[in-house]
Amino acid sequence: MSTANSYLSVAGISIDVVYKDIKNLHISVYPPVGRVRIAAPKRLDEDAIRLAVVQRLPWIKKQREQLRGADRQTQRRMISGETHYVWGERLRLDASRHGRARVGLAGKTLWLTTPADYDENQRWAVLDRWYRTQLKDAVPPLLDKWQPIVGREAAAVVVRRMKTKWGTCQVVSRSIWLNPELAKKNPRCLEYIVVHELTHLIERTHNERFIELMDLHMPDWRARRDELNAAPLAEEQWGPHG
Ligand SMILES: [Zn+2]
Repeated sequence: MSTANSYLSVAGISIDVVYKDIKNLHISVYPPVGRVRIAAPKRLDEDAIRLAVVQRLPWIKKQREQLRGADRQTQRRMISGETHYVWGERLRLDASRHGRARVGLAGKTLWLTTPADYDENQRWAVLDRWYRTQLKDAVPPLLDKWQPIVGREAAAVVVRRMKTKWGTCQVVSRSIWLNPELAKKNPRCLEYIVVHELTHLIERTHNERFIELMDLHMPDWRARRDELNAAPLAEEQWGPHG
């Protein structure tokens, strides 16, 4: 059994470190946002891990750029038959209807209706706006539930696309930023990010106290985090046509 033991930040990249009974250090970069996870031998201290990360920074950055490039590429197609995720549900896109721009759900179909002359980017923008609305609508009930439990209130919640983060917390302005990609994941994942960012209003960094608070308020946060960074997006990432 392994447990996530700590977080590091190196060159602006936040890294999960898991200590294990192993001989060598392993670095993995996960889709879709390029989360970096390190499995480290138990004997290594933080400085040694930092050094190893610094030495591998060019490789890590290259992996992250590739992930983002792949993501952008599929986002631009927006054609019927593609797989898209909405709140963790795998849906099939139908873009065959033309008319006023709108998005709708029916069973396992995600309908994307746009004027006939819309190109891929315009179709993408319509769907992106819809995801943002989905996310904005989902957040207030979560704040109502969690702010009293965590004991902090966010002054504002902003939906903003971020290259490498699901969420972030601006401690001074007490505002929370959420990545619209969260509307593609199981709602459990959004709930985890909301609690995580609210907890940053108590502790700025991922220190021991932060992890204690997460364990206290949301004992299954690690499973939610892993779900957030796990497989189904790989499928979405490469798309059904290539
Ligand atoms: Zn954090």
